[in-house]
Amino acid sequence: MPWSLTIGRLGETAIRIHVTFLLFLVWIWAAYYRSGGSSAAWEGVLFVALLFACVLLHELGHVFAARRYGVKTPDITLWPFGGIANLERIPEKPSQELVVAIAGPLVNVVIALVLLVILSATLGGTDLTADSLAKIEDPRTSILVKLAGANIFLVVFNLIPAFPMDGGRALRALLAMRIGYSKATATAASIGQGLAIGMGLLGIFTNPMLMIIGVFVFLAASGEAGQAQLKEASRGLLVSDAMITHFETLGPQSTVDDAADALIRSTQKEFPVVDGAGHLRGVLTRDAMIRAMKDQGPQTAVIEVMQADIPVVEARSKLDAALKLITSAQVPAVGVVDVSGKLVGLLTPENVGELMMLHAARPERGAHPFGRAG
Ligand SMILES: [Zn+2]
Repeated sequence: MPWSLTIGRLGETAIRIHVTFLLFLVWIWAAYYRSGGSSAAWEGVLFVALLFACVLLHELGHVFAARRYGVKTPDITLWPFGGIANLERIPEKPSQELVVAIAGPLVNVVIALVLLVILSATLGGTDLTADSLAKIEDPRTSILVKLAGANIFLVVFNLIPAFPMDGGRALRALLAMRIGYSKATATAASIGQGLAIGMGLLGIFTNPMLMIIGVFVFLAASGEAGQAQLKEASRGLLVSDAMITHFETLGPQSTVDDAADALIRSTQKEFPVVDGAGHLRGVLTRDAMIRAMKDQGPQTAVIEVMQADIPVVEARSKLDAALKLITSAQVPAVGVVDVSGKLVGLLTPENVGELMMLHAARPERGAHPFGRAG
């Protein structure tokens, strides 16, 4: 993730801060400075540092709960709204996902309770005498009060039943126990989107920040639903089950003019350039071809204008890993090779899309329509 900075490591987990979190810190600092001068700004910085620690502990709650089920977490990213622990996978059983989802907010519940116990001890019970009010005015006490409040806010906010909040995952897990993973995700995503629209509308009339959060939650919910669908569609499949096997190829000596002929006689948009040994040298896209035709002329060698750094996967490898490659790397296609390294197929975003459409159209037969019973 280019918009986040790694600030440390804990075992196999990298701890990162998203740029927006840093902007949030700056904004907090400036807001405190404007209202109360430099001493208030420093108090604000201390408060934010402590709050930051609570958010981190929240994420570590998820990480350690996931570790119990053998799920690693390559990184934690801290966002202004609470942070995301990027689990390697979601635990298989919905009950485990539920535990992982609520482990985070549970940490904040514990922190809030500890702070409240400390506060009630310092303030001497609940009756607010002039003496205890004076103690609340004390900056050290007031920071604890604010911190307890912030932790309660973190619990409430993260339990909103919408992705990517923990409440959304908990809701999905609860639904998955009854109606299966993919339907549960779709339902939870719709509920989340409904809530997001509500938040956005409420934000128009009250706080514009709420509108921004609404938009973010809406996008996250759609993203989660799409990813879950993709994961579900690719479950138990091999690359060879999904790859394109009939396609035109170009040779290293081919020209843009040859490529144009191939474009006309086929429906392809990505043309692999393959050498005499059958190895993939690169991929020429339709757009690159048209650009080269216009700027450099039809006699240009395709090898000069193709994209060379095309990742390859083995035909017998798992499809979900290849799909991750195609969605994360900015490439027009992924080459599929046999054990000797010869190109035998192609995966493109378009044929992955077709796979998804087929999956969606297939009548639901149990939890896993493609093979593998479970
Ligand atoms: Zn969380």
